[in-house]
Amino acid sequence: MPFDSTTDSLVVAEIDRLAPELVASVQRAVRIASIEPKYPGQSYDELVGREGDVARLVAEIYAEAGAEVDVFAVEPGRENAAGRVRGAGGGRSLVYNGHIDVVPAGDPATWTSGDPFSGEEREGRIWGRGSTDMKAGVLAQAYAAVALRRAGVRLAGDLTMVAVVGEEVGDHEAGTTATIRRGYVGDVAVIAEPTAPPVPLAIVPVTPGLLWFSVTVRGKTAHAGLRGETRHATIYGAELGVNAIDKGFLVYQALNRLEEEWAETKRHRLFPNGKFGLLPGVIHGSPWGIDVPFFLSESVTIEYCVMFHPDDDCAQTKHAIERQVELASALDPWLREHPPSIAWKLEWEPYRLADDHAVLPALERAHERAVHGTTLAGPARRHGFAGVCDATWYDAAGIPCVIYGPGDIRLAHAADEHVAIAEILAACKTYALLAIDWCGLADA
Ligand SMILES: [Zn+2]
Repeated sequence: MPFDSTTDSLVVAEIDRLAPELVASVQRAVRIASIEPKYPGQSYDELVGREGDVARLVAEIYAEAGAEVDVFAVEPGRENAAGRVRGAGGGRSLVYNGHIDVVPAGDPATWTSGDPFSGEEREGRIWGRGSTDMKAGVLAQAYAAVALRRAGVRLAGDLTMVAVVGEEVGDHEAGTTATIRRGYVGDVAVIAEPTAPPVPLAIVPVTPGLLWFSVTVRGKTAHAGLRGETRHATIYGAELGVNAIDKGFLVYQALNRLEEEWAETKRHRLFPNGKFGLLPGVIHGSPWGIDVPFFLSESVTIEYCVMFHPDDDCAQTKHAIERQVELASALDPWLREHPPSIAWKLEWEPYRLADDHAVLPALERAHERAVHGTTLAGPARRHGFAGVCDATWYDAAGIPCVIYGPGDIRLAHAADEHVAIAEILAACKTYALLAIDWCGLADA
């Protein structure tokens, strides 16, 4: 598919010229270990300030694009960057969004290079925590605006870019929502989260919802030597002791059955079958906090991360989970008397864009032109997002939103995270071409 106009080809040529600079900026950004300071298990005081360093780096590039630049924080040290390229008027406005916090890197020994923040370029990729998720996307958006300026393009509508903190813990009040409240809004937002698989640079109009909860089951401790007598009601049974871990597994099994049921009943054409489920990611049970197996365990707690169907919401999913635990408990005499307690820790509503929203065909056109003649050539493909993201908060503010970005969610949060340079460039071209298509060109 040839480029529609001279303007498009000029902009694409600018991006090819800017490629070394774009790659170097992604490397610089990855080398700032901007680990989310509120991530569980991290030291806030040690980490706070690094997101701000990335924000200032991104803000320099917004300035190169001729944007009005604003670096601001809700929490000191946790600066967001915003840049607005004012349109000449009359066009639709567009917001480009990406987050600059990253998750912890895990054990450096599990990284091939031994350095999770190397930012090295190897095999046509940039390596490091935060490369795929999602500094490559943030910088591809920023350089799209630089290329527009260098090509002498004046848009009709406003192009606004934000690079935000707090996404990895849902702290949108400090990040995306703070930018919305400060007026960085538009007719549509595009979030640069990594959107492979199933293909690089998939177009993502929908995300699941997320819940985090813990369920705790109490037991009744006794000497380990009485295991047999407590297990079998024909001897002493629960009168003498109840091992909480055994009862916790009844809850585990019940939730496992719910997950199996979802694989059959909760289907969506933009997600693989069996996508939605309940992950028991943490389990801890012991006799009153002493980790030795010489007593019956007094309590067990299982922590779950739930990814649920986009057509459901947090309230109805919570209800279904509580109901499932209740039904399982009704079948067990001990649990009937000592019902498991559920603590809800995080709620994140799913996101859905209307199928007929005009940004979808515009993004498809831009993508297909951007990848034309490259190794990524092919028709645009729509797909659901693996997890949740800031789309939910744009939705809450009434701003339609779509997700599209370089990188692969399978590499995000993993050792040896990396992003292909070809994808960064293609994404950058798509962002520039979409801005032209969506915002329109100013009258000459
Ligand atoms: Zn992300």
